[in-house]
Amino acid sequence: MSDMKAPLALVTGASRGIGQAIADRLAADGFFVVGTATSAAGAAAIAERLGPQGTGVVLQVQQPEQVNPLLDQLEQQYGPLAVLVNNAGITRDGLLLRMKDEDWSDIMAVHLDGVFRLCRRAIKGMSRQRRGRIINISSVVARMGNAGQTNYAAAKAGLEGFSRALAREMGGRNITVNCVAPGLIETDMTDAVGDQSRQALLGRIALGRAGQPDEVAAAVAFLASDASSYITGAVLPVNGGLYFD
Ligand code: NAP
Repeated sequence: MSDMKAPLALVTGASRGIGQAIADRLAADGFFVVGTATSAAGAAAIAERLGPQGTGVVLQVQQPEQVNPLLDQLEQQYGPLAVLVNNAGITRDGLLLRMKDEDWSDIMAVHLDGVFRLCRRAIKGMSRQRRGRIINISSVVARMGNAGQTNYAAAKAGLEGFSRALAREMGGRNITVNCVAPGLIETDMTDAVGDQSRQALLGRIALGRAGQPDEVAAAVAFLASDASSYITGAVLPVNGGLYFD
């Protein structure tokens, strides 16, 4: 596939961890991948890594004024958006009793407000194409719960509900909306988890180990591909058996 004709995939938070693995995998699968980072240096590193298969751009997903102009520019430059992967994420962990207002609102802004605006803009072009794939990165915590993460669990559970509702709205336009819910994956985000909680979590994982970012990327690649054409409104767990519904 020639680079300019390759279908366009946008992956938020592609500078590190799971998002980087998703960007690499979608590029290998033949997409032209635009990955986002919060800094110019991060965006440049994404562009260098993807080479002719993609590029990097700066985006703070919680900034309302950044979303529409970015999507306008990308669609003008690279053609219609085929795949949107909402992966960017942060944590602001702490017990509820001591949780600050910003710890709550920052999580909602990144995980929910950002996804809302990106999806609202993305479905415009996808509707015209009568084809689209939206993949939202949730977490095992949405269903399992986790002490110290009421804010994050609420946002991820909200994200799953949002995705199911949007799947119903957009099904008639052949746009699928699904979630991938990772368990404990080795990234900067989980480096911050203390040794004790890590050991406790590992003890509950059927496969007995943490996951790697490319194991999440494989699930995303499936949902982005034609092979998943009859799957929508689903949550695909990638957690090694940490939690079963
Ligand atoms: P990570 O290594 O900490 O990387 C986070 C990514 O999100 C980075 O690319 C970062 O960009 C970007 N980002 C952070 N704040 C942003 C903002 N305000 N606007 C736009 N981009 C922003 O995280 P990860 O572990 O790969 O997690 C990726 C996703 O998987 C998240 O949604 C997370 O909740 C979810 N998840 C992770 C795990 C896990 O075990 N790791 C488990 C379940 C779910 P910069 O590099 O520029 O900061």
